[in-house]
Amino acid sequence: MRIKRTVSIPVKLPSEKFLFLMAQCAEIFNAHIDWAIANKTYNKNKAHKALYHSLREQYCCVSSALVQTIRDNALEAIKATKFKNIPRKKPTSGLRYDKRTMTLRGKQLTLSCIGKRVSLILDVPDYFKEVFETWEFCGATVTYTNNTKQFWVRLVFETEDPQQIEGQIQGIDRGLYHQAVTSDGQFFSSSKVREVQRRYLFNRRKLQQKGTRSAKRRLKAMSGREKRFMRDTNHCVSKKLANQPLIAVFVLEDLSSIRTQRRGKKMNKWLGSWAFYQQEQFLTYKAEALGKRVAYQDARYTSQKCNICKHIRKTNRHKSKFCCKNCGHWTHADFNAAKNVRDDYILSSTYGTEEQGSVNTLYVSAKFFG
Ligand SMILES: [Zn+2]
Repeated sequence: MRIKRTVSIPVKLPSEKFLFLMAQCAEIFNAHIDWAIANKTYNKNKAHKALYHSLREQYCCVSSALVQTIRDNALEAIKATKFKNIPRKKPTSGLRYDKRTMTLRGKQLTLSCIGKRVSLILDVPDYFKEVFETWEFCGATVTYTNNTKQFWVRLVFETEDPQQIEGQIQGIDRGLYHQAVTSDGQFFSSSKVREVQRRYLFNRRKLQQKGTRSAKRRLKAMSGREKRFMRDTNHCVSKKLANQPLIAVFVLEDLSSIRTQRRGKKMNKWLGSWAFYQQEQFLTYKAEALGKRVAYQDARYTSQKCNICKHIRKTNRHKSKFCCKNCGHWTHADFNAAKNVRDDYILSSTYGTEEQGSVNTLYVSAKFFG
């Protein structure tokens, strides 16, 4: 099995040229769709014979390779829907490139365009460097966001699924006060994150009240800085988690089951934020690249259940303290939750059925995906 990864990078392109090209390509795409519907076929050779020369005449600035790529895309799109849905492109729809119409050498990307090819150097974030250097590049899409007037290039890479490795299972609790607490007692505090977010929020409100032009400019710069800070933090935490040598499976709480618990307004806001989602994505990427994986567990009672006697009561938890009303077990609430996440996962997965007593030393077989 091969795994795919998409990397999105904002780029500066000559907008007049590219917007014109996108509009032309959309028309070529739609012409193929119309032809396919009229002739009830998605045969590429037939389409080529019927359309290629007239389209090349009509859209003489679009390169021959691009016309062929669009033809393949259009016919594959209609084939996928079996004529049930009619795929259509708008003038600013994304432009798909393949090996015929683009080249990527290191960070240099060369794109087919009107007239000469356009060459640019990509600003590759650190955490994607490895993908760029070691994965196989298979295609890209250029898109345009109308309201921000920004071009993006989405590059698709592929690699062989690395051999699944053997190791222990680790439960991870993610909360407001800790970005992550693991079932073996590691705490990744989010106090620094919260402090920075508070500061940005305060400054943002002040600038929004001002409403001047320079205030708007500073707001924009600030949001960029905040995003970079969060990204670096997420990068760092997920790297530390993924690189733990003995762990092969990371079990996270299934988000939909946390939301139903009503853990408060602040918590729900954090759960819905892009920063939270990004942390999960980073951990998944890094784990997969190492032959490890991320699993999810229904977490409905993980915060109220005692990890020792399994007694569930709402009042067992008080903020960050967990104290069992049944057996008196006393610990940090997030640590207790992380252990429950791990134990519940092991019990509910087939691997745990015979080894309920020795969850700490349970090893996972090498092949999860058969
Ligand atoms: Zn208990």
